[in-house]
Amino acid sequence: MLELVDLVAGYRTRQGLFGRRGEIRAVAGVNLTVAAGETVCLVGESGCGKSTVARAVVNLIRPFEGEIRFDGRSLVGMSRDQRREVQLVFQDPYASLNPRMTVRELITEAWRIHPGVVARDQWDAEVASLLERVGLNPAHASRYPHQFSGGQRQRICIARALSVRPRLIVLDEAVSALDVSIQAQILALLRKLRDELGVAYLFITHDLGVVRHFADRVAVMHLGTIVETGDTEQIYRSPAHPYTQALLSAAPSVDDWRDQGGEEIVLTGDVPSPLHPPTGCRFRTRCWKADERCRTEEPALEPHGTDHPVACHYASVLSPRS
Ligand code: ADP
Ligand code: MG
Repeated sequence: MLELVDLVAGYRTRQGLFGRRGEIRAVAGVNLTVAAGETVCLVGESGCGKSTVARAVVNLIRPFEGEIRFDGRSLVGMSRDQRREVQLVFQDPYASLNPRMTVRELITEAWRIHPGVVARDQWDAEVASLLERVGLNPAHASRYPHQFSGGQRQRICIARALSVRPRLIVLDEAVSALDVSIQAQILALLRKLRDELGVAYLFITHDLGVVRHFADRVAVMHLGTIVETGDTEQIYRSPAHPYTQALLSAAPSVDDWRDQGGEEIVLTGDVPSPLHPPTGCRFRTRCWKADERCRTEEPALEPHGTDHPVACHYASVLSPRS
């Protein structure tokens, strides 16, 4: 349903003495698909370009290169009404809900923008049914965002995304700001909605602990590129990229790595800037396996004796840290 093909995206800057124009290529050639009804998780540390992918997919920024296709058609240049089937939910429900609007207004706003989704005489009934669907009291439709808790506000954001009947919801750190117990409740809600409505998710997070029992597939992102991708089980049971191994070893709630006798891997060195990425492998400056080949030759994302694609010359499942 959704296809990212060699996507390059980011920001233009003007810097230096002469106002020279620069390009921050925060996303540097990403290929990724999400099938109908599928949950794909994009994980990686802060600053690796996850939100830039999200912004490109919902057309908030225009790709520098590459393609974003939805049902085989380019998303760039589609009308707002055509893009309705792809919705975005952000991390921060405080920032994404206008404090002066009631829940009812927040939800019906989308129907003004996309007339034809819900007939006007159905609005009240539809608001009530949406609130019920996301676990909120329909009688609270006249309340304002500040009258709800953080978790409830995220439910409002989800109801709002659902209101235009999307087939894909991009969730950008949608549970990251919430307490662990509330996170679990929102994830349970997302699971329920997926089962009931068949909606697909592109679930973006820096926290590998969250996705273990939620995603069908995982793509691990590092400095603008995908370094490893596979079924969730493959990524957690047999991570083959040193970066994935480091992420998993450092996630307190993920037991798979420790079950296999892996130690915690502490990455040293600064995260390189997307303005000046390392030559060859973009992870090599922080990688304990890196050698001359990694400096000169960028590894392709393909199976390296593994059952799933990994972008590493020295990918290995069996011997963590050797
Ligand atoms: P993530 O969501 O994974 O934390 P982002 O996609 O937000 O990462 O950012 C990727 C890179 O792009 C970072 O280096 C960040 O500093 C840079 N960046 C993000 N937003 C902007 C912007 N509006 N202007 C310039 N650079 C940006
Ligand atoms: Mg982000």
